[in-house]
Amino acid sequence: MKKSRRSFLTQSGLLLGAGLTINPIWSFAQSEQREITVGEIMDAFIGQVSGAPFPQTVDTLKVGSRDQIVTGVVTTMFATMEVIERAIALQANFIIPHEPTFFNHLDETEWLEKDAVFQRKYDLMKENGIALWRNHDYIHRLADDGVRLGVVKDLEWEAYYQANSPILNIPQTNLASLIHHLKSKLDVPAMRYVGDLDQSCEKVLLIPGAAGGIAQLEGIMKYNPDVLICGESNEWETPEYVRAANSQGKKLSMIVIGHSASEEGGSEFLETWLESQFPGLPVFHVPSGNSLEII
Ligand SMILES: [Zn+2]
Repeated sequence: MKKSRRSFLTQSGLLLGAGLTINPIWSFAQSEQREITVGEIMDAFIGQVSGAPFPQTVDTLKVGSRDQIVTGVVTTMFATMEVIERAIALQANFIIPHEPTFFNHLDETEWLEKDAVFQRKYDLMKENGIALWRNHDYIHRLADDGVRLGVVKDLEWEAYYQANSPILNIPQTNLASLIHHLKSKLDVPAMRYVGDLDQSCEKVLLIPGAAGGIAQLEGIMKYNPDVLICGESNEWETPEYVRAANSQGKKLSMIVIGHSASEEGGSEFLETWLESQFPGLPVFHVPSGNSLEII
């Protein structure tokens, strides 16, 4: 059974606060003699993606080395300071985030080298022997996008999902109820939307993350959905298109979940995959939450 993100956090916090560890590392060490390296985990994942390894990818090892023996893995959307601290507390020395760690798409660090915020984040991992590998391109390029699968599961929409399709035909509802469903399943307190809250919604175009305005609009043109659900969108792109469409009387709406929550299911997918491939290896999904808060 899926544990809710909130209860997971609370539970781990309580256990750690009580001086207990929920990390089964010692029993793992006893039952599994084989040592698993960072490189082995990377290769196992990459090995199932067709056309991989990709010559150009953002999925590189950002901290640590391939030879490092893994004591435990943390999967997350963003390796925030809190996620790194949690990994250290869990004695998990390998973090696999979906998104950049050093505040730019390629995780380039030269331009940040004199910056104290960057340095402190990098040092926290270095000093605690943490390895970090981004898994973005590979998880999206599985035969069926692992992020989308994870999000569909979180939304309990498996029955409406067709492999490799971003379109889900859900039972008819209205936009307000649909937003409520997303908020409760994804643990997000508020969402932004464009459209009429009474509009009926059945045909959903689900594009987690930040695919970009053109990709979102091409999806709308191709599938003609009732509603687009995305992670984030530049305000001057898709939202303005949807607003114009509404002004013209077209039935179309969009919901912006927030990037992190919109793809967190992918980190849960990765957690499940790691557990199945490396039985006994301690694996933890630690949600990174949103940077932007609402008031
Ligand atoms: Zn993504």
